[in-house]
Amino acid sequence: MSADAVVLTGVTRAYPGGVTGLDDVSLRVPRGAFLAIMGESGSGKSTLLHVASGLDVPTRGSVAIGGVEIGRMGEARRAKVRREQVGFIFQSYNLVPSLTVEQNITLPLRLAGRSPDRRWIAELVERTGLAGLLRRAPDELSGGQRQRVAVVRALVARPAVVFADEPTGALDARTAEGILDLLSSLVTDLGQTVVMVTHDPGAAARAGHTVLMAGGRISRIVGRPVAVGAAA
Ligand code: ADP
Ligand code: MG
Repeated sequence: MSADAVVLTGVTRAYPGGVTGLDDVSLRVPRGAFLAIMGESGSGKSTLLHVASGLDVPTRGSVAIGGVEIGRMGEARRAKVRREQVGFIFQSYNLVPSLTVEQNITLPLRLAGRSPDRRWIAELVERTGLAGLLRRAPDELSGGQRQRVAVVRALVARPAVVFADEPTGALDARTAEGILDLLSSLVTDLGQTVVMVTHDPGAAARAGHTVLMAGGRISRIVGRPVAVGAAA
């Protein structure tokens, strides 16, 4: 098993029309790291997240997730790596409204044709306080509860890395704090690797490292060094 959850080496993502979303970015995310990504709008945060999670492919450079090089894979094989190695948490929760909480949680496993690990799910449900809510529909939950469901869903397949795109962006301050407590505890107690895009300096402060993006490059890293060859 690779010691690193994600490794980007010399990654450039050029968009049609001459826009460079990412410009020669190298970044190593060790297993068990809690990494925040910050930067102004248009600085390349989403592009970094998409490329690092296998949702998108680099124009140049390589991307390894859980030790598997995905840069040159076709969409079908990348989708398989994503299902097995990557969890996603979105600002807008992205739960399936027609499914119950429990069905939402186990959906990634059903899509992957895997049988649920009941013990692991029970532990996650217990940890997130969702035990009494499993039969509810998402629209019967508060925002904080919905995000807890999304967190459990992201973890259910035991991914190498969880990517969170502004996971507290739609929540009030107190509820956001609860979600950040939860994410921190996943890192501390379970050794889960978490990469979180955020605009909130308070949220970033909860992470072990913050990568600052500017103009498609890493402009600075705060915290213990995790980058290799970051742009000077
Ligand atoms: P951030 O998430 O930090 O706001 P993005 O990664 O979304 O930044 O965008 C970085 C740059 O790439 C911006 O200039 C943006 O306009 C451009 N960009 C992003 N996605 C596309 C796309 N699909 N096609 C063309 N340009 C894009
Ligand atoms: Mg963005």
